[in-house]
Amino acid sequence: MSLSDEIKAKALQLGFDACGIAKAELLADDARTLQTWLNKGYHANMSYLENHFDKRTNPQLLVHGAQSVIVVLLNYFPAQLQPESAPKIAKYAYGKDYHFIIKDKLKQLQAFIDEQAQNENMVFCDSAPVLERRLAQRAGLGWIGKSGLLIHPTLGSYCLIGELITTLPLDYDTPQKERCGTCTACIKACPTEALSAYEVNANRCISYLTIEHRDTISDEFTSRMGNRLFGCDACLDACPWNKKAKAHHTAELQPHEQLLTLDWAHFSRSTFKQLFKHSALERAGYQKIKKRLDVILQKDINK
Ligand code: SF4
Ligand code: SF4
Repeated sequence: MSLSDEIKAKALQLGFDACGIAKAELLADDARTLQTWLNKGYHANMSYLENHFDKRTNPQLLVHGAQSVIVVLLNYFPAQLQPESAPKIAKYAYGKDYHFIIKDKLKQLQAFIDEQAQNENMVFCDSAPVLERRLAQRAGLGWIGKSGLLIHPTLGSYCLIGELITTLPLDYDTPQKERCGTCTACIKACPTEALSAYEVNANRCISYLTIEHRDTISDEFTSRMGNRLFGCDACLDACPWNKKAKAHHTAELQPHEQLLTLDWAHFSRSTFKQLFKHSALERAGYQKIKKRLDVILQKDINK
């Protein structure tokens, strides 16, 4: 077994659902795509995405002498969904914050690699939000769909991504070709017209509006957001490649047992603390969640 195969086998043993390897090199085409997206202002108020442009587009600047990027995927499709009428939380956020879960597993993979060979390496999860998908595509793990998401041919797009960049030379996987064909289901399903082919305008995206956006959400969007409380899965749910999504097997991604039966009319700060401690919802914070919840419940009352 080659070292590359041993690393992939170890990644699966640690609970990742897929692992591929890309060459660490300048992502020239992707840098141009990112620059165009930033120039359009599609990153909204996430100005941190403008920082460290050179590092984002070249893994060799993140780890000196890097030769390979090991990319892992973790399926997060839940076994049980919230009731249709409940204020909706994006599926990736049902359980513990995935950053902790992926980093913990990646550190175990790092320890394994360090035992096998002398190398320098670093682990990443969501440190370069746009280019992680590009690296996954280069590592043969799928293609970037018109939704802007990575689509794995069997896992679909309910996948979280992590990377380990190393100075080890490894065997590189072959990038996959795009397989969206003539489908435009994700673009049609987007409630706020945030999506054009391969590009998300964060200014209009419900994920951004309910998580990162700090001001009041404009009426133009609230009228179209339905009962989405935190994040949005509309473009994922519409994708035919997700129709056969299988439930994940990661205990930490399981929701708090009360989440699926919660009486949202009595949601309080203590409920928030109890149900969402160490979850991605902490990023938005109680006040933002409560403000959005009140809008949703008010709408329900007025129905
Ligand atoms: S997450 Fe929702 S709002 Fe954002 S692009 Fe997808 S469907 Fe549109
Ligand atoms: S919904 Fe269709 S166009 Fe959009 S990502 Fe999925 S396959 Fe591609």
